Amino acid sequence: MIRKNKLYSVVALGLLLALLCGCGSAALAAPDPEAAERSTIYVDSMDTFMELTAYGSNRTEALKAAKAEIERLNAMLSIGLEESEISRVNRDGGGRVSEETAAMITEALALNTETMGAFDLTVYPLMELWGFVSKNYHVPSEEELNETLERVGASRVSINENGVVTLGEGQAIDLGGIAKGYTSQRLMQLFREQGVSSAIVSLGGNIQVLGTKPDGSNWRIGVKDPANPEFGISAIVTVADKAVITSGGYERYFMDPETGTIYRHIIDPATGYPAESGLASVTIVTDDGMLGDGLSTALYIMGLEKAGEFWRNHSDAFEAIFIDNSGSVYITAGLEGSVTSDRQLRIIR
Ligand code: ADP
Ligand code: MG
Repeated sequence: MIRKNKLYSVVALGLLLALLCGCGSAALAAPDPEAAERSTIYVDSMDTFMELTAYGSNRTEALKAAKAEIERLNAMLSIGLEESEISRVNRDGGGRVSEETAAMITEALALNTETMGAFDLTVYPLMELWGFVSKNYHVPSEEELNETLERVGASRVSINENGVVTLGEGQAIDLGGIAKGYTSQRLMQLFREQGVSSAIVSLGGNIQVLGTKPDGSNWRIGVKDPANPEFGISAIVTVADKAVITSGGYERYFMDPETGTIYRHIIDPATGYPAESGLASVTIVTDDGMLGDGLSTALYIMGLEKAGEFWRNHSDAFEAIFIDNSGSVYITAGLEGSVTSDRQLRIIR
C-alpha cells in the first residue's frame, strides 16, 4: 500500500513537471528514438535452435552479450561437454560446483520434492538406456530397466552449503530439464542490465518475454498443435513479462518398428518408461523461466487430473495450458481472457 501511494505521488509529480514545462511526456523520460527498431540473432546451443529478438537503441550490444551468456551457461551445464561442471560431477560421483550450478541443483532437488518425484535430475541413465542421448533408440528389457532404475532417484543426491555435491552409486545428474528455462530467465535480467526493455527469446520453443512490445501491447505467443507442430497452433496466449514454456511429446520420440508403439522423450522416473499420461503438451505461463521449464516436464508426467490438483495448490506461482491426446485444450482459471483458440477452451478451477 505504501509503495502504491509513493508511486502515485511520483507520477503526479512527473505530470506536474510535464505541465509546467509544457513539453508533454518527454519530461518524464527521454524516449528512445529507436524504441521500435528491432534485431534478431540465432544461436545454436544447448542442443537446440534459439531465436533472440531485442528492441531499442541498446539492442545490438545486448544481443551480443546474450549470445555470450548462452555459451557460458552451456559450457558450464552441458552433459555433452566433458569439461562442464556437470560432466565433472558425473565422472567423479560428486564434487564442488560453482555457486550458480549449486543454486540450480538445489532448485532441481526442490522441484523433485514438490512434484512428488515427477521432475528428477537423475533420469539421465534412463535417457541413455532408451537411446534418447545417442539417437540409437532401443526398447529396453525389464532386466535392463530394473538395473537402470536402481541408479535413478533424486533422494540419493545431496548438496551441502559449500556447494559440494554427492551422488549415489552409479548416478548421473542432468540439468537439461531446467537449463533452457534458467537461461531465458538470465537473458531477461541481462537485457534489463543492458538497457533493453522490450525483448523476446525462443530457446527451442521455450519462450520468455521482457516487458511488452515496444508499442505497449502484449506479446502473442502461439501454443503448437501437438498433432501438427510444424504448422498448426492450438491456442494463442497474450502476455507481458512472462515465460511461456512448453513440454510436448512431439519434440522427440521414436517408434518401435516391431510393435508400432511410440516412445517419447519425457521419462516417468517412477516406472522408467516414457510418460503416457494422456497429455500431448503442457505449457506453463510464469514469471520464473526455470520453474516453468521444470514444471512443464513434471506436469506432463502427472497427467491432467494430478496436474490440475498441483496447480490448485500452487496457483500463485504459475498458470498452465494443457492439450490432451484428443486435442482438447484446457487452461487454468488465471488465463481466462488471455488465451484464444478456435477450439473450445475448458477452464480448470
Ligand atoms: P526440452 O526442455 O528438452 O525442450 P522438456 O522440457 O520437455 O524438453 O524436457 C525434456 C528433457 O528433460 C529431456 O530431454 C530430458 O533431458 C529431461 N527429462 C526427461 N524426463 C525428465 C524427468 N522426469 N525429470 C527431469 N528431466 C527429465
Ligand atoms: Mg522442461
